[in-house]
Amino acid sequence: MMKLYKPFLLFNEGTFKPNMGLMIDGGKITAIGPYKELETRYPDTEFVDWPDEIIVPGTVNAHNHSFQSLLRGLAADRPFLEWRDQALYKYSPYLKAKDVYTGAVFAFSEMMKCGATTVSDYFYVHNEGIDSDEAVIQAAKDVGIRFVLARTMYDWTGAPAGYVESVDEAVKNVTCLAKKYRDDPMVSVVPAPHSLHAASVEMIRAGHRLAQEFDCKFHIHVAEEPFEVDQVLHDHHMRPVELLDKIGVMADGRMVAIHCVWLNDHEKTLMAENHASLVYCPSSNMFLADGITDIPALLNGNVTIGLGSDGACSNNRISVFEEMRMCAMLQKVSKLDSLAVNYHQAFAMGTKGGAEILQLPIGELKPGFSADFVALNRNDLSIQPISETHEQVLPNIVYAMQPTAIDYVVVDGKCTVDHGHLITLNEGQVIKRVQTLMNTIGK
Ligand SMILES: [Zn+2]
Repeated sequence: MMKLYKPFLLFNEGTFKPNMGLMIDGGKITAIGPYKELETRYPDTEFVDWPDEIIVPGTVNAHNHSFQSLLRGLAADRPFLEWRDQALYKYSPYLKAKDVYTGAVFAFSEMMKCGATTVSDYFYVHNEGIDSDEAVIQAAKDVGIRFVLARTMYDWTGAPAGYVESVDEAVKNVTCLAKKYRDDPMVSVVPAPHSLHAASVEMIRAGHRLAQEFDCKFHIHVAEEPFEVDQVLHDHHMRPVELLDKIGVMADGRMVAIHCVWLNDHEKTLMAENHASLVYCPSSNMFLADGITDIPALLNGNVTIGLGSDGACSNNRISVFEEMRMCAMLQKVSKLDSLAVNYHQAFAMGTKGGAEILQLPIGELKPGFSADFVALNRNDLSIQPISETHEQVLPNIVYAMQPTAIDYVVVDGKCTVDHGHLITLNEGQVIKRVQTLMNTIGK
């Protein structure tokens, strides 16, 4: 089914253009050009007149833990280990697959209303084995968000039992899911050995081998907190990225490192030389008092950078637009340099940077790419002023815009948010499910 969208402005090739049409056919963008021309060329198409809308690519949330939305507001303002024990570890053992589904539907609904069209969920609460993974995938399908399951491989036995698998079990489960969803246009599965503190070297190597087998990337948390650096130094006499390099999982450019707060110069060079990617989660790093990743150095090394909200109980918002703002602001103050990260860079990280990391044809509006986009209302106060030059549009989106400006979200050519309301699911029922679960969990 062909549709021609006629917005006020369209973000294309790095600028906002008026009088441009966006043509889609099914789930793909088929043409972009002056809409008068497209109208003449395709008279039988359905026209969507959006005279007040600014169309931008859908944002890509490259790191989230959806179940953590259920724990938002619990054990807030505690040191990391206390927060971990009193929120994560306390509630995780009770989460059955149906509860994981509830958390995921909740998280994906909220982030989609905030303009995310794709999410990578880093999922590790396998209380019901692979059925728990399937519950998250089903939630993504029901909400209508494009989905990458970063299927976690975890063998540190100090954690709740549902997180932990042997290397063989983890390999078997990742393989099973990756094969099952290989041809699904809305779901992909990538291996995600948890971190150097929660996955053995053998597990990390197994994750890397799976990435080779399925020709994809693998995700891993790296140096989020100083304790991981200390532990790796103590056990291996080298730093985290040095160890990852030494065990041979970086050389083929498949590593997606999450956080990378505590890297020294040599580790930053290793990230660049090995074409590793970074998912940066500035709000989470602030909330948990982790520290500040050196984004300018990694950008200088041409490391591909995407943005993640991380779990909603360590942020506590789950919006990629929010992370764009936080990324730029935190880097500016950290470097005492207003140019440390600019709004173009922050916007690119939240769209095409995440897309590159997730290896999907999204994050930009161009023919052949998926029809994943967001329409922002130019009359929302938080996006004004917009003068004739359009100079203010992108800085206002990154630094000023509130979710009230988000009118429509389209994923794979299908509208999922209409006039700011979720239309794939009943929002009231989602809230009811969450409340019922949190009033009864563990009782
Ligand atoms: Zn994480």
